[in-house]
Amino acid sequence: MTLPKSTRFLVIGAGIHGLSTAYHLALELKASGQGSGADIVIVDKTGIAAGASGIACGVVRNNYYQPAMSELMAANVEVWESDPTAYHYNSVGYMALGPAAQVSDLTEVAERQERIGYANTLITGEAACDAYMRTIFPDWRAKGIEIVLHEHRGGFAFNVDSMHGIANKARAEGVTIIDGVRVTGFDSDNAGAVTRVHTNEGSVDVEQVIVGVGPWVPEIWRMLDLPAKIDVRTPAGEVHAGQNMWTYWYLQEGEIQVDPLSFDRADGTAPPVIHVDTDAPLYADNGTLITDELWGIYYKRDRHGVQGGASPLAIGSEFEVDPYPTASVDDTFPDMWCAALSHCMSRFEGCRASYKDARSGGAGAFTADNFPVFDYMRPNVYVIADSNHGYKMIGVGKEVARVLTGGHSTLLHPFRYERFATGDLHPVSNSPYPWS
Ligand SMILES: Cc1cc2nc3c(=O)[nH]c(=O)nc-3n(C[C@H](O)[C@H](O)[C@H](O)COP(=O)(O)OP(=O)(O)OC[C@H]3O[C@@H](n4cnc5c(N)ncnc54)[C@H](O)[C@@H]3O)c2cc1C
Repeated sequence: MTLPKSTRFLVIGAGIHGLSTAYHLALELKASGQGSGADIVIVDKTGIAAGASGIACGVVRNNYYQPAMSELMAANVEVWESDPTAYHYNSVGYMALGPAAQVSDLTEVAERQERIGYANTLITGEAACDAYMRTIFPDWRAKGIEIVLHEHRGGFAFNVDSMHGIANKARAEGVTIIDGVRVTGFDSDNAGAVTRVHTNEGSVDVEQVIVGVGPWVPEIWRMLDLPAKIDVRTPAGEVHAGQNMWTYWYLQEGEIQVDPLSFDRADGTAPPVIHVDTDAPLYADNGTLITDELWGIYYKRDRHGVQGGASPLAIGSEFEVDPYPTASVDDTFPDMWCAALSHCMSRFEGCRASYKDARSGGAGAFTADNFPVFDYMRPNVYVIADSNHGYKMIGVGKEVARVLTGGHSTLLHPFRYERFATGDLHPVSNSPYPWS
């Protein structure tokens, strides 16, 4: 397919955000009589699911300490639930387990979920947590767990399949998706609006541009002449000058190849996604100490076994993202992750031997406060930069579509770029992860 000479809406990137925005925009244009999917072109330098959305673990959860994130996540889950077949979505639930340091954060999250009608079970106290886990998994044996937040909604989706599911929906609405087209620059008018987008396959005149390029966002940010360093005002009014707008983190994930059905609940049903943070010392099955500091893992049942990850590695403001995914994992990751699985459930004892060096892991570009920026960064350029929170955020495109057609999104408002200057930042949790 060749690049047209012009289009009303040019979407850059065929990951979760580009595809979801295009699909929902097509619906919105049709419903409001403003046009149709034929007004939308998606270009991707590689193809559908070539970026982070195609490598993500696919976990869909609500658990966020920040009210704005949690409310947005509830809206995302509704979109996943709206068509589980097309989105290859598994509504198995999600469990967050934490040590004493996380009791107040997770309790607050659970109370907010109650208020917004997001079904959960909250258990506190080590003995009660242990008993609750053992009713679901009789071989549960993790130490030092003081709180369990069991979300009965959420779960996971199959990454590449779900992207093709959304792409098919978009195409059915008339959206054009073109692979192998890399955006290389922009022409702007005097007001800063982009008039023409340059690519390796020629140029295209545009009315509006939507940027959904995941970990490549710093590149497009530079092409749009946006600042690499920014001043960040804290809610207390203190100004941190010259902060990196973007920092790369490397997310480590792996899998063990075991019979997927060996990871079941006691009643034979599919297990929820499990996320454990703990300060209990972690030992390998042979008794070697792996760490005596706070550690965390997440895991889920997959088609070929059990898949998941652990704490990410901070990289810094410079990183060569291509080829993507860039590599696999740190040398120490398989030992740590497998020891952690065994720490949690005796069924995983000895699982290190089943660890598979899969195509896994990848980089993410995090913003100055580790939360997304969803905003117009030029008068007609809407940037969706999810700060690596976003496979689960299938509903963001629906909200963006409303904004692009002249509406307002209360859910996206807290993620405007202006917050760095005004100090309207999100609260910070006690989690060891930069995304909780
Ligand atoms: C290992 C890993 C595990 C993760 N696990 C989860 C998880 O379990 N749950 C969760 O919610 N999130 C997870 N995430 C985060 C999530 O994957 C990302 O936040 C999300 O997929 C980003 O989606 P996107 O559409 O912005 O970008 P992407 O999916 O990266 O898509 C961007 C697309 O833009 C294209 N592109 C880039 N530059 C250009 C250009 N110049 N011209 C044209 N096209 C271009 C790329 O080819 C790519 O296809 C994970 C991330 C990683 C790396």
